[in-house]
Amino acid sequence: MDSVTEEEKSEDYLFKIVLVGDSAVGKSNLLARFARDEFYPNSKSTIGVEFQTQKMDINGKEVKAQIWDTAGQERFRAVTSAYYRGAVGALLVYDISRRQTFDSIGRWLNELHTHCDMNVVTILVGNKTDLKDAREVSTAEGRALAEAQGLFFMETSALDSSNVAAAFETVVKEIYNILSRKVM
Ligand code: GDP
Ligand code: MG
Repeated sequence: MDSVTEEEKSEDYLFKIVLVGDSAVGKSNLLARFARDEFYPNSKSTIGVEFQTQKMDINGKEVKAQIWDTAGQERFRAVTSAYYRGAVGALLVYDISRRQTFDSIGRWLNELHTHCDMNVVTILVGNKTDLKDAREVSTAEGRALAEAQGLFFMETSALDSSNVAAAFETVVKEIYNILSRKVM
């Protein structure tokens, strides 16, 4: 009986999170760093598995994040509705060293809101902060966009690990908090 209860409890906390953003911004590497503490210097867009389930501890509760990664289809702007279906959280990723990927964020946000609930918990992520000399998008610009769109914001580096876990945890914690408020 106890094990059934445990299972039911953890089933209550399985959140689908999607990684969204232009090709090569580092989506797959953010997931690899977070879930396996790995980094692929020359990764093609195909390293990703369809999704990865990651156990997390939120306020002493075990929460499972089912994190979805693209298989490179974002290159053709052909991410299917199945990818987004049921997502309650999203990491909207750009590369701070390529302005073009920041300019695409509005389109990705539209796509997200077309396929998901408007309330999908979203963090804007400026990745590759280790590339200091190549920076094309300032921290202030990223933060301003996030504030204007009502998104969380963080800058990360999948290469040196900075803020990677924090970015995923921000989203999962907020989803958890919203859910526990609803339950009560
Ligand atoms: P995706 O297409 O968005 O999934 O991007 P990938 O994770 O495949 O990464 C694309 C390229 O950027 C790869 O060569 C990675 O090694 C590199 N990359 C990813 N994250 C970082 C980072 O934080 N810093 C640096 N310097 N390179 C990164
Ligand atoms: Mg990828």
